[in-house]
Amino acid sequence: MKNFKKDNVIYYFSPDNLPKYFIEDGEEFWVETEDCYSGQIKTINDLRPNINISIMDASVGPIAINGAEVGDSLCVQILDIEVVSQGVMVTSPGLGILGSMINEATTRIIKIDNGYANFFDKFKIPINPMIGVLGVATEKDKIHCATPGTHGGNMDTKEIKVDSKVYLPVFVKGANLAIGDLHAVMGDGELSGTGVEIAGKVHLKVNVIKNMKLNRPRIEREEGIYMISSAEDFEEAIKNAVYDGVEYLKNEFNLDFKDAYRLVSAACDIRISQVVNPLVTIKLFVPNWIKNTII
Ligand code: CA
Ligand code: ZN
Repeated sequence: MKNFKKDNVIYYFSPDNLPKYFIEDGEEFWVETEDCYSGQIKTINDLRPNINISIMDASVGPIAINGAEVGDSLCVQILDIEVVSQGVMVTSPGLGILGSMINEATTRIIKIDNGYANFFDKFKIPINPMIGVLGVATEKDKIHCATPGTHGGNMDTKEIKVDSKVYLPVFVKGANLAIGDLHAVMGDGELSGTGVEIAGKVHLKVNVIKNMKLNRPRIEREEGIYMISSAEDFEEAIKNAVYDGVEYLKNEFNLDFKDAYRLVSAACDIRISQVVNPLVTIKLFVPNWIKNTII
């Protein structure tokens, strides 16, 4: 099985990036990634204000998928995520939702042992590894890997984890997938501005879905589908995710727009992915139990 090392990274998702790795449709492979700081923070003496933030969220790739064409979608199946034995969480003035209350940068190294993250020698938090940055080449803009969008990117959505299928729209031939920014664990919101940032490797299987035109990324899990939407404000982000949910229910259950809109309102939930990146990301959860209620 191919194992892509972290020697080719991108800092921007762009239609102009040339692929560095190549796979076939349906191929399984591993990708190794640095943490979101490109490994610049290793001890408590490494503070966020002193690192080079332009190389943050560097993502390994681009990976071209043979047969992916404009107007298709990629199905990225996450088979496994392995994280290394130490992660990091920083605070820094301005960082996160309460950043204005932080007047000093500090770094905590978070040791990972046997499936648990050791918080300050006080809490043993079970890890729940996830991928922060997963994206494809954009349609036309050059978008930094720290920003999310219709191409995926820094979605920081905790359901991007093992046993999920992430669907992304294809904007260039080969799609040019890239991956980075693993978290050992993170809550909805990524409130202090970071998850437990960590290096590691992911085992993926990618399939090309012909002529499946997506407006935005979505995640399929056993419990349901998450419609992912990123925008400058919550209202815009929610509007787009709800639209995707209504369209999905309309097509899946042969409903008109108004009934699908009613069904979304009765059975689906808006949840927050992250509030700390250049755009906010939200998710509309469309539960699979709806299918079991059909009379
Ligand atoms: Ca991130
Ligand atoms: Zn991160």
